[in-house]
Amino acid sequence: MAPQNYKISGAGDARLREALKVRLDMAPQIVIVSHVNPDGDAVGSSLALYHYFSKAGRKVKIVIPDQCPDFLRWLPGNEKIIIYKNKKAEAKNAILNAGLLFALDFNTPTRAGKAGELISQSDSYKIMIDHHPNPSDFADIVISDTMASSTAELVFRFIESAGDPGLIDPVIATCLYAGIMSDTGSFNYNSSQPETYRVLAELLKRGIDKDYIYSMVYDNYSENRMRLLGYCLLEKMAVIPEYKTAYMSLSLDEKKEYKYIRGDAEGFVNYPLSIKGIVFVAFFMENDDHIKISFRSKGSFDTNVFAQENFDGGGHLNASGGESKLSLPEAINKFVSLLPDYVRKKGFGNPESYEGKF
Ligand code: 5GP
Ligand code: MN
Repeated sequence: MAPQNYKISGAGDARLREALKVRLDMAPQIVIVSHVNPDGDAVGSSLALYHYFSKAGRKVKIVIPDQCPDFLRWLPGNEKIIIYKNKKAEAKNAILNAGLLFALDFNTPTRAGKAGELISQSDSYKIMIDHHPNPSDFADIVISDTMASSTAELVFRFIESAGDPGLIDPVIATCLYAGIMSDTGSFNYNSSQPETYRVLAELLKRGIDKDYIYSMVYDNYSENRMRLLGYCLLEKMAVIPEYKTAYMSLSLDEKKEYKYIRGDAEGFVNYPLSIKGIVFVAFFMENDDHIKISFRSKGSFDTNVFAQENFDGGGHLNASGGESKLSLPEAINKFVSLLPDYVRKKGFGNPESYEGKF
């Protein structure tokens, strides 16, 4: 069946409601899948949808390819998540036998690793809810809105469209708020649409404690993480003013030295953007078998295209990621050597084109 591209809005969408009702009745087991290296939006939107379906009396499971970082484990229902890496057989069974499969916060199966391969194999009816550009067409219903702050915002609108805003309780609202807050850097980027604030207002009306949510996500780090941040900024940050670019990196040895645990370098990539005149930042993280790279920009420089063209990645205009099989110094050299060409092509390092803008 050709995918039906439903663009859902705040108002109830009768077509979506009808399609969903038919599918729910046909398929009692729902499975929600999100992407590798799950972030606050992946986990928050998945848990919110999980709680919503549970409340609506449906059987529902969540599969996420790998472990959530510590600062997300407090989210209500986190212990229910089936981590593919830890429970391969159970996760495989869930995905292959799902009647209705939701793909959340990613738009191409490869972003869900091995779980994504299973999604491709699964005959289940698939609904994608996502806000990244250029969705591939693996799903039967595509709810894709690149203007949305986050998948969590879209899940709110999805529940509304399904006619159930009354089921959104403080638990669901907390998960959704955590998702929107994380994906916007606390309403810093991806957050210029009035619709985002309508959804946030609705969440606040459910009685959530926004300060508690902030504190649980952002004030939950170890001393090691703060020292690692200090080390990165003091010793590892390279600034290239002529290209309005900065970058940082962490090797396996450095991670060991600072007793790095998953999530410890979350957000580090954003810091150099606070330097006046810097519009493009990369953060290189050495892992056992590849280099993971995060990109951030200010303004019109498209990090998504840069990540796709050079580092087998993708994401959003101002926030994206990719990876490399090169060594850490080689990956950095490749990045630096690409800059002059991008400056020439896109003009992002040309002072005139940014005059008065930043
Ligand atoms: P982060 O830098 O925080 O890991 O990711 C920022 C954004 O880029 C997120 O929206 C994430 O989905 C996307 N992203 C990160 N890594 C990759 C990747 O390897 N491939 C793709 N397609 N997107 C990525
Ligand atoms: Mn997201």
